[in-house]
Amino acid sequence: MSILVVDDSIDSQRLIRAFLKSDGHDEVIMAQSATEAYRVLSSKADENNIQLILLDIVMPDVNGIEACRKMKTFATAIDTPIIMVTAKTEKEELEKAFAAGAMDYITKPINKTELLARVRSALRLKREIDGRKAREQELLEVTRQLEAANESLRLQTSRDGLTGVANRRHFDELLAQEWERATRERQPLALLMIDIDDFKRYNDHYGHLQGDDCLRSVASAGVRALKRPCDVLARYGGEEFAAILPLTDVVGATAIGEQIRSAVEALRIPHAKSSCAAVVTISLGAYSVIPTSALVVENLIQCADRALYRAKANGRNQVQVGEDRIASGENSAI
Ligand code: GH3
Ligand code: MG
Ligand code: MG
Repeated sequence: MSILVVDDSIDSQRLIRAFLKSDGHDEVIMAQSATEAYRVLSSKADENNIQLILLDIVMPDVNGIEACRKMKTFATAIDTPIIMVTAKTEKEELEKAFAAGAMDYITKPINKTELLARVRSALRLKREIDGRKAREQELLEVTRQLEAANESLRLQTSRDGLTGVANRRHFDELLAQEWERATRERQPLALLMIDIDDFKRYNDHYGHLQGDDCLRSVASAGVRALKRPCDVLARYGGEEFAAILPLTDVVGATAIGEQIRSAVEALRIPHAKSSCAAVVTISLGAYSVIPTSALVVENLIQCADRALYRAKANGRNQVQVGEDRIASGENSAI
């Protein structure tokens, strides 16, 4: 906590130091020129911790007004009050000083009472500025923490705890959003319903924990197989997953379904009790529609679900495409 006095006159320096000391200000740094003052201000903020600058207007190297302007560009002095010390009281000079960032002025010859009164009020101002800044910092920090907590909460409430993919709640929200958008933009929206084959037997044979591992691996393979950023894989429930594929027709949906199917098969997770393969496999139902206001999103789920049922009935480990004409008959699979 120190006061920086910038004055080329040794006599003035002595006088100011004595006056300040008489009011308990022991830490006073003297600079004989603006250049020397810049050096002081360039040192680390916590090294000198300057609370106030008393700046002579008339100095040989740099004019005090110019010095004032420059000092305000130092990070260590942005919020530091500057009191100009001047023999000149011409209005024009003072106006320039205020424009350059000075907060107050005192005139030479220096009157002790006046100096100390101005110093006290400047220091009070500095304390207020520092206090306000600290509160702003605290507020910023609290806001940042709150945002981080919100984000983590949002992730927790939208992710499935076991597999890390979108959970059912998030799936319902996303699908409703995509349905709205596809209706508005008259674009196709596809859905894949995915179910692990003979998973009950897998659990019975390998145990529930290994079953959980298998679910995680299948989810990761599914996520990797999705290429577009807008495609989303979700855990629909138990050992069922669903993929939302915006702007995708039935051909595209079938192709992506096939990619997910082969990705899961390629994991080569042994499944000794499977009815259709030696490894863990999945069955998929695909459906795509350009929604209209006559339809509801449940129609899409039902159609993809029926296709999944046919994939199971047809021997599992395959993709089947929905053949239904959706709902009111006005719209059909594309
Ligand atoms: P299908 O080929 O016809 O789909 O036969 P499935 O045995 O997979 O079908 P079913 O729906 O009868 O069995 C699903 C099994 O999935 C039942 C349950 O033990 C298992 N399962 C559901 N959720 C979890 C889970 O979170 N962890 C584990 N390990 N198993 C789960
Ligand atoms: Mg099932
Ligand atoms: Mg199953």
